[in-house]
Amino acid sequence: LVAVAERVSTALTASHAFEMERRRVAALAEADEAKTRLLENVGHEFRTPLTLLAGPLDSVRESTTSTLTDGDRDSLDVVHRASTRLRRLVDDLLDAVSADAGQLRARLEPTDLAAVIRDCASMFAAVVSYQGLELVVDAAEDVVVLTDGEMWAKVVFNLVANAVKYTPAGRISVRLVTGADAIRLVVADTGLGIPEDDLPRIFDRFHRVERSGAHSIEGSGIGLALVSDLVTVLDGRIDVDSQVGVGSTFTVVVPRLPVESTAGVERPIPA
Ligand code: ADP
Repeated sequence: LVAVAERVSTALTASHAFEMERRRVAALAEADEAKTRLLENVGHEFRTPLTLLAGPLDSVRESTTSTLTDGDRDSLDVVHRASTRLRRLVDDLLDAVSADAGQLRARLEPTDLAAVIRDCASMFAAVVSYQGLELVVDAAEDVVVLTDGEMWAKVVFNLVANAVKYTPAGRISVRLVTGADAIRLVVADTGLGIPEDDLPRIFDRFHRVERSGAHSIEGSGIGLALVSDLVTVLDGRIDVDSQVGVGSTFTVVVPRLPVESTAGVERPIPA
């Protein structure tokens, strides 16, 4: 009888523990959903005014008839850069939320990837020359494939932005290599490098490498997590090879879908 009572009591404790665990998981899922909704709402609230800023700001900056001084133009350039950066951060955040919700979808269209890469890289010309860096882009030949150009632009932009940000002096190279079955993008720099302990976590959202003194650089820890989500949606993978004080190389590999293939074309990005 004692043995039976003990077994019943153990079973009751186990079912109580199970119920407690079930409630804890449900509460966590609810909190997670609330967090996602909050991020989404805040992101959308920020995006509208930031988008509205861009038009008037550009027309003032580009106006040839205005009486702006050089100082005014410099100030407007600062406002323009800051608002563009904010807009990109908000877009990245919203993409990250969509990725979490499994809503990030590729819109596959015939796209010249080499042109996407050249356009993205050209956006860094000014900052690269200001920082005295060398930027080499090897994507001269047209490479038209079935893919999502916007997603690629975000991948390239984030990787090159990081290379620029974490390379105080030296060289950055961006190379597109196309094979029969796969496309490879290699973004390499001769910058600060990433400590071995951090390497497994740099694609985690909000993970940042702690750097001290002159090497402490502003950031949000969203960029690489988003890149990794986008590459996954593109059915590919991303690898990093890095050594502190030597530099970092990020390699993205995705399957090559020829333009005539129609596999998965129906995957639109939900509104
Ligand atoms: P952020 O740059 O906003 O901190 P990311 O997600 O883009 O966030 O990057 C995560 C971390 O990985 C960064 O804090 C940075 O220390 C490190 N990292 C990313 N790219 C590079 C790079 N090219 N060179 C050195 N460190 C890098």
